[in-house]
Amino acid sequence: MSLAHGRPYAAIPGPSVIPDRVLAAMHRPAPNIYGQALRELTESLIPDLKRLARTAGHAAIYIGNGHAAWEAANANLFSRGDRALVPATGLFGLGWANSAARMGVQAEVIDFGRSGPADPDRIEAALRADRAGAIRAVMVTHVDTATGVRNDLRAVRAAIDAAGHPALLVADCIASLGCDRFLMDDWGVDVTLAASQKGLMTPPGLAILWMNDRALAATAAADLRTPYWDWRPRIAPEEYYQYFCGTAPTHHLFGLREALTMILDEEGLEAVWARHERLARAVWAAVGAWGGQGDIRLNVADPAARGRSVTSVFVGGGGAARLRAWTEAEAGVVLGIGLGMGTPEDPEARDWLRVAHMGHVSAHMTLGVLAVMEAGLAALGIPHGPGGAAAAAAAVAAGDAPVA
Ligand SMILES: *Cc1c(COP(=O)(O)O)cnc(C)c1O
Repeated sequence: MSLAHGRPYAAIPGPSVIPDRVLAAMHRPAPNIYGQALRELTESLIPDLKRLARTAGHAAIYIGNGHAAWEAANANLFSRGDRALVPATGLFGLGWANSAARMGVQAEVIDFGRSGPADPDRIEAALRADRAGAIRAVMVTHVDTATGVRNDLRAVRAAIDAAGHPALLVADCIASLGCDRFLMDDWGVDVTLAASQKGLMTPPGLAILWMNDRALAATAAADLRTPYWDWRPRIAPEEYYQYFCGTAPTHHLFGLREALTMILDEEGLEAVWARHERLARAVWAAVGAWGGQGDIRLNVADPAARGRSVTSVFVGGGGAARLRAWTEAEAGVVLGIGLGMGTPEDPEARDWLRVAHMGHVSAHMTLGVLAVMEAGLAALGIPHGPGGAAAAAAAVAAGDAPVA
């Protein structure tokens, strides 16, 4: 007999749980793409997207996923042969560098490994070495979804400024926007990337980019621009079709409208950040207790450098893969696979899993996932310290911690 009946839960870092309200908002006949209602809907999204990213700049929406967001940024910022600096802290930073390289950008990776944040001093040194100021942009992943590492974007901006370098700061916030605290303008971020299917609680299909006027100035010279990727008509459309360079992603817009209302107008962005902070602490507390007497640990030692939306966990001896199989088959909980964490001994990363606590998640969902993981550790005989679920409950009971 399995306990995997009832509502299943994919606790994977995207696509995240879609609120019933978002699904319901999408359940409607096709709208007239030449009508006033769809135009008004779209025009209501733009100011709310700017509130979400905390910017007075511009916002553009594309039909696409996170990889599309990368290409949109690449196309609007670079010419073939331009240089970019990519401080990478996991598979997603490396993937972004690869996407730029394949488009003809000289993307210079500084690999900071898989368990800690980018060191701003090394970024500053790399920029100082570029006396001609040829590096056009520093491309940083805010939270790397593979490792769970969170980078300090303010520190990266300070490093660029300390070097007196003109490079733009471009931030991949695909896994963090609407989860981790983020203030685009205050932090000096020039371009921000997101996608609909993570903190924004909407099905995969929208890539969203925010840019300031400094970034727009770079676009004029960028020869990788193509008619579809050019963000300039999208932010100042003369005709409605220019918002999307063709047919609008109609149903996604209705879904996103509902999600933004939930985040910005009902719960409030500060409360959304505080909820993610508290649920993340519950996850860390559980893993910490299990690790007391077992080969189990969090990937990122420093709490300040951990994403608040996703946690990468080591369970040795192939325990992570066995635990994932157990939670899915016996409890209806799908955990994320290890990504980019493989070693020569464990190329498939059977020792790594990821727990998402991203978007539409509540205390009962995250505590439920953690209690199920504890049940699985016990059922499989994987050595672990006691009290993980209780430690998670205590973290929830402790109330709001300051959002760091
Ligand atoms: C999910 C993710 C991506 C890739 O998004 P896709 O929709 O899978 O293309 C890129 N960067 C980060 C940080 C992500 O979390």
